[in-house]
Amino acid sequence: LSPDDIYLTSGCVQAIEIMISVLAQPGANILLPRPGFPMYESRTTFSELEVRYFDLVPERGWEADLESVKAIADENTVAMLIINPSNPCGSVYSHDHLAQIAETAGELGILIIADEVYDHLAFGSKPFIPMGVFGKTVPVITLGAISKRWLVPGWRLGWIATCDPNGILKETKIDQSIQNYINITSDPATFIQGAVPQIIANTKEEYFNKILDLLRNSADLCYGKIKDIRGITCPHKPEGSMFVMAKLDLSFLDGFSDDIDFCCRLAKEESVIVLPEVLHWE
Ligand SMILES: *Cc1c(COP(=O)(O)O)cnc(C)c1O
Repeated sequence: LSPDDIYLTSGCVQAIEIMISVLAQPGANILLPRPGFPMYESRTTFSELEVRYFDLVPERGWEADLESVKAIADENTVAMLIINPSNPCGSVYSHDHLAQIAETAGELGILIIADEVYDHLAFGSKPFIPMGVFGKTVPVITLGAISKRWLVPGWRLGWIATCDPNGILKETKIDQSIQNYINITSDPATFIQGAVPQIIANTKEEYFNKILDLLRNSADLCYGKIKDIRGITCPHKPEGSMFVMAKLDLSFLDGFSDDIDFCCRLAKEESVIVLPEVLHWE
């Protein structure tokens, strides 16, 4: 990558906002993973970009169901989204699976938006592999930020990185659209921009290892305790990001109307806060 491939944004949220706005053309659609990160749905709805969902398969470590991707894509599909390591599934994709995703997107002629805000937060057996390494197969637009890896969500510094050695984004003027958007919006605070080179160069391995240990221990604890609770199962042990995805079986739990009701009462009665997943999977 060269400096021309990087656009600084106010956190990963603004990177999402920019990419969805750039891709939202009349009649276009985008493929989002289910379960996913609700910000994408809110943004696409606001921009009137049509959303189509492909499933992540819990039994296969939350891998993308690429058959369903092929089934829902058409000539108006502009991109598919991959969140790796995953919020909310806690999964980390293998090199093989990322290669399959790239092949599929390449065949369909669509871009990949790779949300890697949890880059390097992989504490299981699989290493984190950036989607950008497949940029020769298909143009990849990577979204990132310092918020998660450095635990500074309030600092609001993120980026868009275009990984496209074949120059397809230039040809299709998508990189020009990104630049146009950047030109009419505000930049991240200058004193944080000024700190970035030092943040990247001088953060010690020790700091990252401590965070990874903490995340690994928390994930192990959660996964272990969930196993002992009737009505809640965790289909796949978390290997990355900061999330444990659990499945609620309401037939074991008397008097709850749905997952939102369960989450509200868990907060009230036990002071334990969990997020409901509004989308349900079979
Ligand atoms: C937290 C999060 C973001 C937003 O990151 P910020 O840098 O805080 O704006 C984007 N995508 C996913 C998947 C996230 O979990």
